[in-house]
Amino acid sequence: MKTKTILYIASPLIVIAIFIMSLGVWIQGGGRNSEESIPTTFDDTPFRVYEAVVPGSPLKLKHFISENNEINVSSSLVMGEKEVIVFAAPATKYSAERLADEIEKTGRKLTYIYLSHPHLDHAQGAVILQQRFPGVKLIAEPKVAEINNLRIPLHDDMAKKRYGDNAAIPSPIFEEYDSDVLMLEGREIQLWHDQHGDVGIGYEDEPHTVVYIPDLKALLPNDICYFGGHMMMGGTTKQSRAKWKDQIRSYMNMDLNVVIPGHVPRSWSGKMTAKGVLNHSLTYIENYEQALESSKTSDEVIKKMLANYPDLGHTSALYLGTYINFRETHRLLFNPRLEKFVSFLPKSFVKELDKKMFEDKRKMWNL
Ligand SMILES: [Zn+2]
Repeated sequence: MKTKTILYIASPLIVIAIFIMSLGVWIQGGGRNSEESIPTTFDDTPFRVYEAVVPGSPLKLKHFISENNEINVSSSLVMGEKEVIVFAAPATKYSAERLADEIEKTGRKLTYIYLSHPHLDHAQGAVILQQRFPGVKLIAEPKVAEINNLRIPLHDDMAKKRYGDNAAIPSPIFEEYDSDVLMLEGREIQLWHDQHGDVGIGYEDEPHTVVYIPDLKALLPNDICYFGGHMMMGGTTKQSRAKWKDQIRSYMNMDLNVVIPGHVPRSWSGKMTAKGVLNHSLTYIENYEQALESSKTSDEVIKKMLANYPDLGHTSALYLGTYINFRETHRLLFNPRLEKFVSFLPKSFVKELDKKMFEDKRKMWNL
């Protein structure tokens, strides 16, 4: 074949290849910027401290919250006279360093970091605390530890993409702690296993542990309750939401002094009451279900919830959860350029592709 003929055949292919490559680069450029995970301004609302209600108990709880662009993760520093246990670590390197400073300020020895459910936003920062406080034990209920440890490569990959240099990686391993009780200087901390809450890309029965501290009348439900922000409803079903709501109703029957939600904007923490947190969580789930049942599209659900709750933070949880519920997998990337490109493709093709991508993702996250 003559060179001229080869060039004649190859040139349109080269043009198409260049077009596809450029399109890929253009779409990739529309993704989220990892710099956004580092706060430039800080909320100066002080971290609240809750004292024991049982006479003679030395226990107290300091509620650390990471900043708005660090998705306001709650960490509870439960202190005795000499020791401190941390329930939930924040997501990023930078937020975990600031939590480490708070722990240092207590002047107490950090003995345990307890993980309530296998999600990276409450697990990864523990690696920074481990570096700052060698000897601390990282523990979780056996099923939670197992799922979390299996997901480490996925968690690390996701964090690298999302947080860049601010990712707290490599994720640490959590040891299996098979007990319903954790003691702090002779005082009891109860661990209630197999509770239901947010699952994201996991299965609807993904395990959560709720912590109850009798001396403080404090409940730490983590991502079973939220305050001042949208809740992550992705991956839930009618059945799992029914269990979730029943649990919250049972907490409402308790005599509680404080309920620490998994996420709360720091500016809202001053308004937090035990009843307020439980009420917000229960009515949010009810309203979300109503929006879900009366809508045909994810955008409709999101619009209704935003109208219902114009002042809430964490809208990303609403978008993410609703895209998961409608199996709109490509939208989980929050890339407007990708969405523009997809809008030119046939709807039925996109739907099938999204469904397949979702099932693949789900298998990966549930080894
Ligand atoms: Zn969370």
